[in-house]
Amino acid sequence: MPESTTPTRPDAGLRIAVVGAGPAGIYAADILTKTGGVAVDSVDIFDRLPTPYGLIRYGVAPDHPRIKQIIVALHRVMENPRISFYGNVQVGVDVKVDELRQFYDAVVFATGAERDRGLTIPGADLDGSHGAAEFVAFYDSHPDREQTWDLTGAREVAVIGVGNVGLDVARILARTGDELLYTEIPPHVHEVLRKSAVTDVHMFARRGPAQAKFTPVELRELDHSPNVEVLVDPSGMEFDAGSEEAIAKAKSQRMVVDVLSEWALRDPRPGPHRRIHIHFLQNPVEILGDGTVSGLRTERMELTGDGNVRGTGEFTDWDVQAVYRAVGYRSEPIADLPFDGAKLVLPNEAGRVLDPGGAPLTGIYATGWVKRGPVGLIGHTKSDAAETVANLLADAPELPRAPHRSRAEVEALLAEKGLRVTDFDGWDRLDAHERELGVADEHDRERVKVISRSEMTSIAAKARHQ
Ligand SMILES: Cc1cc2nc3c(=O)[nH]c(=O)nc-3n(C[C@H](O)[C@H](O)[C@H](O)COP(=O)(O)OP(=O)(O)OC[C@H]3O[C@@H](n4cnc5c(N)ncnc54)[C@H](O)[C@@H]3O)c2cc1C
Repeated sequence: MPESTTPTRPDAGLRIAVVGAGPAGIYAADILTKTGGVAVDSVDIFDRLPTPYGLIRYGVAPDHPRIKQIIVALHRVMENPRISFYGNVQVGVDVKVDELRQFYDAVVFATGAERDRGLTIPGADLDGSHGAAEFVAFYDSHPDREQTWDLTGAREVAVIGVGNVGLDVARILARTGDELLYTEIPPHVHEVLRKSAVTDVHMFARRGPAQAKFTPVELRELDHSPNVEVLVDPSGMEFDAGSEEAIAKAKSQRMVVDVLSEWALRDPRPGPHRRIHIHFLQNPVEILGDGTVSGLRTERMELTGDGNVRGTGEFTDWDVQAVYRAVGYRSEPIADLPFDGAKLVLPNEAGRVLDPGGAPLTGIYATGWVKRGPVGLIGHTKSDAAETVANLLADAPELPRAPHRSRAEVEALLAEKGLRVTDFDGWDRLDAHERELGVADEHDRERVKVISRSEMTSIAAKARHQ
């Protein structure tokens, strides 16, 4: 630990660490540096990846270029000289939380959620049964995940879950690789999709259409491909009093139900050679197969009057050769911090992280998906950050000031640990490099992502070492 170089005044402006450079972390940094009243000197954002932007880079589907453009606004935030970026640093592993506390008066965890929630039905571990997060990380080329995928063995596939991630997975599985060439889809992913044997994607929902977790814009988008026909199984389009109440309460749910109802009524079009089928009130109970997936068994459900469902004892076996489990993401625990194993988040009250006894931990906060779970769009992380930051600033007078207060001291610690840290100028270099690769590509792509961590850090570091 370096010697303290700056005396700590109790009235010193706050030095804050944000862990996680996804939208939640960057919005928190933005709000912190714009605050009036309590002085915030600087905000340093750490990420375990060499790159910023979290799930915008490694979760949002490549055919959502408009959403990926949110990084333009986030980039502007990161240009603020009071905000620094330290990439390739995993807090809890490379740097312990207690070590950070030596340099920062408060630490805001915005570590998101990037793994699959488990699905506890028989057969979930068979070959050909995939977590949605794994497939998403493949098609977005997450550096720490699988870089190969085989879609040649399955004609019919099942997607379990009817939320926006399920929609992304179904859409990417159904669209032809060539349709995605205009996007930043990585060349090796395009090749996998180009060779895909998939003709039919079946989405299964345990509950009814009024309980679907889709958002209307994302749902409508499913139907935008000339090569894909979307069909809703009319037998699942049932509503009870609870469903009517849910629809009456939320305009967006009404819009979702309207779209689904329209699709349930239409006749199949001639032409599209791939189909997405949506089946409501079919609860997946077992993935069938001997070593490898050969089917999915569902139980027909019925509505109970209040929007809930119960099983009918009527089972159907679907002939599918692969299953994608899109039943939600989960956050990972961080060493030396409490974790709520039931909700799979950092236990917190309005962003103040709580100890196992329920008392706030001094100077430790949470925002984004690790605060409230993996639901909601990028925009929601902004209001989330506003709440967390408001509480942090309210606590500021009571926060003990950290003994080490300069960026030079933080950087000395990171160097001492031998970490190959990336900074924001480094991101700009990597970003420019990827765009140049895209222009040079025969298909004139938006960008060609660099995948390996070591290559990313080398490109990011280039100018510093010249
Ligand atoms: C498949 C998918 C598609 C989506 N599509 C859309 C869409 O089209 N439109 C939309 O609005 N929203 C979409 N979302 C939702 C959106 O991605 C989230 O709302 C948002 O990313 C949550 O932000 P976050 O900052 O909390 O988490 P994240 O974006 O996950 O960021 C967390 C960051 O923390 C870092 N981190 C984790 N642990 C550590 C650690 N120990 N030390 C240092 N850094 C760490 C991670 O590397 C990551 O960069 C999608 C989500 C998914 C999963």
